[in-house]
Amino acid sequence: MQIYDVIIIGGGPAGLAAGLYAGRARMKTLLIEKDKDGGQIVITSEVENYPGCMEEESGVSLVARMTHQTEKFGVERAQDAITAVDFSGDVKVLKGKKGEYHARSVIIATGAFPRPIGCEGEKELIGKGVSYCATCDGNFFEDMDIYVVGGGDTAVEEAMYLTKFGRKVTIVHRRDQLRAAKSIQEKALKNPKINFLWDTVITKLKGDGLLESMVIKNLKTGEETEIHAPEEDGTFGVFGFIGFLPQSSIFEGVINLEDGYIPTNERMETNIPGVFAAGDIRVKDIRQVVTAAADGAIAAMMAEKYLEH
Ligand code: NAP
Repeated sequence: MQIYDVIIIGGGPAGLAAGLYAGRARMKTLLIEKDKDGGQIVITSEVENYPGCMEEESGVSLVARMTHQTEKFGVERAQDAITAVDFSGDVKVLKGKKGEYHARSVIIATGAFPRPIGCEGEKELIGKGVSYCATCDGNFFEDMDIYVVGGGDTAVEEAMYLTKFGRKVTIVHRRDQLRAAKSIQEKALKNPKINFLWDTVITKLKGDGLLESMVIKNLKTGEETEIHAPEEDGTFGVFGFIGFLPQSSIFEGVINLEDGYIPTNERMETNIPGVFAAGDIRVKDIRQVVTAAADGAIAAMMAEKYLEH
């Protein structure tokens, strides 16, 4: 039976950075990714906020360079979806659709994905008008119209942040009251660049290449309206902030979770010795590529220390 020093679950920036550090530390490392590497960042058409990224770097190209760098240090790869884990022994067992894997330590870097708005045309227009990250994509909508979906703290705070870029920012909320904290609401209600579309959902996003129009529906009256991009802009932005879906269902009942996220200390240790978590799956405030990569590096170095002892 092959026993790895460390198995990393997830091939996004956190997992790839963990792989890089584990590989360089000469740990026998396996990185398991169920799909393609990259996680959420591959839906970003241009990354400008990762230190050292190239000009006009896409998420796909940044991840390809991260993958190359990680594999250079001898990290083994498996493409498999882990469906169950047993962390009770010194050797941790991971069961996948294709096989079973064993390791003395595990780094969980499975990520969290934004909940989709759930309307027609959304998937096709991600990165072409539709986004889930104001920090990543806000500046692509300089002096354009921006719509923000959601009524929680994130939606309202991000809407305020997006007023730095957009000509006007409209919050589209399915009810007639915000869920966001009163203090956050007050600031937004006072902001002259913020407008509201209450009791409203987006039912369709349309565009050939770029987002050009959308159909919205008033849930109280049933009335549908199509909103077109101003002719001079050709497009507009739609940002979805209706919660995140942490990829942690396989760890339920195995490891401590808080609302689906994994709490860790600064050393990325979970409540189970030898099991670490890194990146967006952790309980944390800031979910960015740079913070995910930092988590991955810390987790791998701490896994090395754990194995030494
Ligand atoms: P959230 O509080 O769960 O709010 C999600 C929002 O999206 C709600 O307004 C909800 O509408 C709406 N929504 C959910 N599903 C939808 C759907 N399918 N279609 C349309 N709208 C939908 O999520 P969050 O704003 O991301 O915040 C997550 C947690 O982080 C919260 O505990 C929040 O307090 C915290 N947070 C705190 C701060 C801060 O303190 N500064 C900042 C950001 C986040 P309904 O209201 O109708 O349910």
